[in-house]
Amino acid sequence: MAIDFSLSPELEAIRCRVRSFVVDVIKPAEERLEADDVRESDRRAYYGVLLDLRRQAREAGIWLPHMPEEWGGMGLGHVQLAMVQAEAAKSSLGPWVFNCQAPDEGNMHTLLHWGTDDQKERYLRPLCEGTSFSCFAMTEPDVAGSDPTLIQTKGYQDGEEWVITGHKWFVSNAHRAAFAILIARTEDDPDLPQAANTAFLVDLPQDGWTEVREIETMHGSTGHSEIVIEDLRLHESQMLGGRGQGHLLGQYRLGPARLAHCMRWIAQAETALDMMVDRSLHRYAHGSLLAEKQGIQWMIADSAMELYQSKLMVLHAAYKIDRGEDFSAEVSMAKHFVANMLNRVIDRSIQVHGALGYSTDTPLAHMFQHARWARFADGADEVHQMRIAQRTIAAFRDFGSTRSATGNLPI
Ligand SMILES: Cc1cc2nc3c(=O)[nH]c(=O)nc-3n(C[C@H](O)[C@H](O)[C@H](O)COP(=O)(O)OP(=O)(O)OC[C@H]3O[C@@H](n4cnc5c(N)ncnc54)[C@H](O)[C@@H]3O)c2cc1C
Repeated sequence: MAIDFSLSPELEAIRCRVRSFVVDVIKPAEERLEADDVRESDRRAYYGVLLDLRRQAREAGIWLPHMPEEWGGMGLGHVQLAMVQAEAAKSSLGPWVFNCQAPDEGNMHTLLHWGTDDQKERYLRPLCEGTSFSCFAMTEPDVAGSDPTLIQTKGYQDGEEWVITGHKWFVSNAHRAAFAILIARTEDDPDLPQAANTAFLVDLPQDGWTEVREIETMHGSTGHSEIVIEDLRLHESQMLGGRGQGHLLGQYRLGPARLAHCMRWIAQAETALDMMVDRSLHRYAHGSLLAEKQGIQWMIADSAMELYQSKLMVLHAAYKIDRGEDFSAEVSMAKHFVANMLNRVIDRSIQVHGALGYSTDTPLAHMFQHARWARFADGADEVHQMRIAQRTIAAFRDFGSTRSATGNLPI
């Protein structure tokens, strides 16, 4: 078997094109927006700049890297996508500018795989065109989001309609979304507990769907909404996938979506490590530069090794997705590892920067606030650990070796 980490000339050209676009076009715009505080002072101007960046990206052929060409995308496989996402996320605006940001990106995959032709035209097409936004409503305040068999939002059938009542929260993007993918319990006595839920497409705004508030989080109030659903009526044609397929659909969505998060987190961690090294080469204390001190070198070395591990894990999981192999174990391990690596590397970088790292004069403080959610959203650490341990124990029981549960690699 061939193990080849080099890029084809075509892919290398794409990667360079994305990198140049981020450095030459997005970053300067981002810096101007930040310097003038345009996001807070003039929302209209802010979105005007973002939309203009999108137009330029599309003209440059960097648009929808995760989607097939027939949907206007770049037609990349997941390994190739890893390169592009990791370049795009060097700027916090990059994924949005290239229209591959969460949760739209995961919703596009979901619609492509599960949508009927009509649903694709109505919901997927505008997402791909960049003329609409979407959200995914699964988590509820009253039951553990880690266990979707507990979902209480309930739907019953009334003729050709489904009537849904429930309570959701942390619905990212709901405030500006043109539609939601909503997960509700429709089956009272399913064969499997996981087969109780069904997904629906909800046009927004709509009677029966009320946004109570945008939840203020540790990085401010940034578009995660609490939603009360009361007698929401949906025609049966709004069902996405079949009855009781909600859990399967969620799992299908989360595989590539979790890995895409990892690709973007790698970019963030690399930025933090670059900053850590840069600072250590310029800060002088107790007779030498910080870069010459063993305590600082250990932080740099640990971060470099963890970033390397993260990249290998992401590439291998992406490779398995591309080959149509079962990727759940690898994506789960990558999601857990990369999320924690990101938090550790940013934290070390803040440490090396001292008070400056704690200030908002560098992006590190903001990055740290954002990074914290990575350890529980889209699968909490402990739940991934539980599944990884279950798979490892089962592998030993079934095959007398844990090898198949550690990536099933040929070493
Ligand atoms: C910024 C952000 C954006 C989000 N966006 C969305 C979105 O768009 N749509 C959406 O539906 N949801 C979204 N979520 C919600 C997210 O998916 C949930 O937070 C996540 O699924 C965990 O659910 P929970 O918060 O109810 O925690 P809980 O399930 O209550 O878990 C609490 C803790 O218990 C631990 N735990 C659970 N089970 C076990 C176990 N078996 N063993 C040991 N420990 C365990 C967990 O690991 C966790 O640490 C978002 C969350 C955040 C913070």
